[in-house]
Amino acid sequence: MQTYRCTCGNRLYFDNSICLACQREVGWCEGCERIAALEPINAADGAATGEYRCGHDDCGKNLRKCHNYVVEAVCNRCYLVEKAVVAEQGPAANEAVQANVLCRSCQLTETIPDLAVVGNHEKWGRLEAAKRRLIYTLDRLGLPYANATPRLTFDFKADIVPPNNEWRNVGAKEIVYTGHADGKITINLREADDAAREALRVQFHEAHRTLIGHFHHEVGHYYWQLLVQNQREAECIRVFGDHNSPAYADAMAAYYQNGPQQNWAASFISAYACAHPWEDFAETFALYLDMISVLDTASQLFRAGRANFRSRSVAPLVERYQEVGILVNEFNRTVGLIDLVPEVVMAPVVEKLKFIHKLLNKAAQPKPLVPEVAPVPLSVVAN
Ligand SMILES: [Zn+2]
Ligand SMILES: [Zn+2]
Ligand SMILES: [Zn+2]
Ligand SMILES: [Zn+2]
Repeated sequence: MQTYRCTCGNRLYFDNSICLACQREVGWCEGCERIAALEPINAADGAATGEYRCGHDDCGKNLRKCHNYVVEAVCNRCYLVEKAVVAEQGPAANEAVQANVLCRSCQLTETIPDLAVVGNHEKWGRLEAAKRRLIYTLDRLGLPYANATPRLTFDFKADIVPPNNEWRNVGAKEIVYTGHADGKITINLREADDAAREALRVQFHEAHRTLIGHFHHEVGHYYWQLLVQNQREAECIRVFGDHNSPAYADAMAAYYQNGPQQNWAASFISAYACAHPWEDFAETFALYLDMISVLDTASQLFRAGRANFRSRSVAPLVERYQEVGILVNEFNRTVGLIDLVPEVVMAPVVEKLKFIHKLLNKAAQPKPLVPEVAPVPLSVVAN
């Protein structure tokens, strides 16, 4: 993740909706794909039009805030508006046309939780925030999702359970399973509850359990369907094993009964990865996206040089990721936090990452590449 500059010169962060130095409203500009100061555009009589100009001089596009920014306060993105709408039909017409418009990220969410339930609004906000980071990373890699078939979509839902101490049956119980099916990523709202999620992390002996981590894993299943299924299955089988045998349901039942194989760490990135080749692919995919996200952040904050995500070889990326990991893990340990990079990436896992790297490079849409800068030694930048 990069950081950005306000018109006043202050540093802005990806989640900001206001500049703490000058109090300007800020938001994500879908024109230049940066957080930008939002300069209000007023009508001739001085009335607010609800439109803004992107504060970056080299962009200056006309923007409107996403509906979920204005009304729900769970988004900080702005979408592009055509200048012609305001100029030709006036602000009132524009208001009508643009009402309830969602940004590119919010459009992908098809189901949101019941906002009448206390706490759900806040949990939904956390899920959207983590999802925006996923979308940012997919865009950085130039991957298809919004116009792909199937299109990537999201459901954020809570279990339906009878209220506690209720003596009568209040209807069918519905348990929401976090997972992916045919383009749709479903996340159980409970994952956005910090205490509940941490309890699960401890129960399952996981190094990390985060909303972003869930997205990174589930979107791996999505890209398997989009880019591997019926296209490169034979090649994938050579790297990850045969996903047809044993059948997924049998493999998962056996995993939950017997646990992971003893020496899993020699060739898998996590214990769960050895449950079935599909889970191995998703876990390795999640590692790949973790690596890309961390290197994107490091490239700016550590002045480490932009990582070339489309380099032919994945090995330099892995090496850099492990270097950053050693550094930041030590910071985390200083204050008692868990490691940022808990994994040691073994050679067989690098082979799997190679497959994913090649797969994604092939799928990447032609977009101007970020120029590669020669890496310089890691050094923390004071701001
Ligand atoms: Zn500012
Ligand atoms: Zn812009
Ligand atoms: Zn939005
Ligand atoms: Zn999975």
